[in-house]
Amino acid sequence: MGDRTLLQVTGLVKSFPLGGGFLKKPSGWVRAVDGVSFTVARGESFGLVGESGCGKTTLGRLILRLMEPTSGRVTFDGKDIFAMPRTELLQLRRRMQIIFQDPYSSLDPRMKVEAIVTEPLRATSNRTRSQRRRVAAEILEKVGLRAGDLDKYPHEFSGGQRQRIGVARALCVRPDLIVADEPVSALDVSIQAQVINLLGDLQEEMELAYVFISHDLSVVEHVCDRIAVMYLGSIMELAPTVEFIRQPRHPYTEALLKAVPFPDPHRRSEPVLLEGDVPSPVDPPTGCPFHPRCAYCFDRCRREKPSSEEIEPDHWTACWLNSGRGLEGEQT
Ligand code: SF4
Repeated sequence: MGDRTLLQVTGLVKSFPLGGGFLKKPSGWVRAVDGVSFTVARGESFGLVGESGCGKTTLGRLILRLMEPTSGRVTFDGKDIFAMPRTELLQLRRRMQIIFQDPYSSLDPRMKVEAIVTEPLRATSNRTRSQRRRVAAEILEKVGLRAGDLDKYPHEFSGGQRQRIGVARALCVRPDLIVADEPVSALDVSIQAQVINLLGDLQEEMELAYVFISHDLSVVEHVCDRIAVMYLGSIMELAPTVEFIRQPRHPYTEALLKAVPFPDPHRRSEPVLLEGDVPSPVDPPTGCPFHPRCAYCFDRCRREKPSSEEIEPDHWTACWLNSGRGLEGEQT
């Protein structure tokens, strides 16, 4: 593990039972996360994109140990978070925070902003109330609100301001890593840019690492140093952002990029190549999970699942077209 590595995810799997119940065996299993591996460096912004139901939110929750995995490992600063006793995990929580998607439902309407923002601080430190209030006031100003807002309730704020309160809550304990789960998708487009710029400024100032989860590639492109694209629980491609955007090597990434209306006048947006819906994870396709929608699908794709391979330094794809073994073994 390199010195700069903060988070390491290795072969992570999460399956959910189907049906079943008390004394009843489940009728099957859904693999929401299917053997995912990647690392995040200190101060890095790592983007996880994919369509709804691809497993990205479950992955975010596993990273924070908000749920237990079926198998696999997550280490934070070299420590295995799933092997940690609860007391140690509580201390670790100070260093890993989450920003939720919905600024309306994620803030308790009965609590004042002071109580909301200082909540993680109460759980992880022995500071007095006046010390906590001072920290909260400083953080509120950092996110573009005022110290006087500490005595207000969430309903007194707009959606963008509420999301700033959510950001302040995450920052209050000075974390090293923030999992931002669709942090701007519930906001108006005009407000989205403000919150994204705020997250970028805070990252520089506080040397924060982000795992930025979004269905919107244009948002992730704006914020992230590297991007991974997920499909049916697996990572299809992972690369530094510039390479990911300019030279996608996986057919799924290529199709997603063609669907994005980039504001650059020199770039042409082409018609969407993606046809059909994401198959149900309850009954995933055999072979490559993307094969029923892939324009390049050949026989081997239907039979065998390609594993992720590093095709250039720090550029990974899971596709037979890029594999050293390529068409080898193909029956024609
Ligand atoms: Fe398409 Fe085959 Fe590559 Fe899957 S492995 S993305 S089906 S070409």
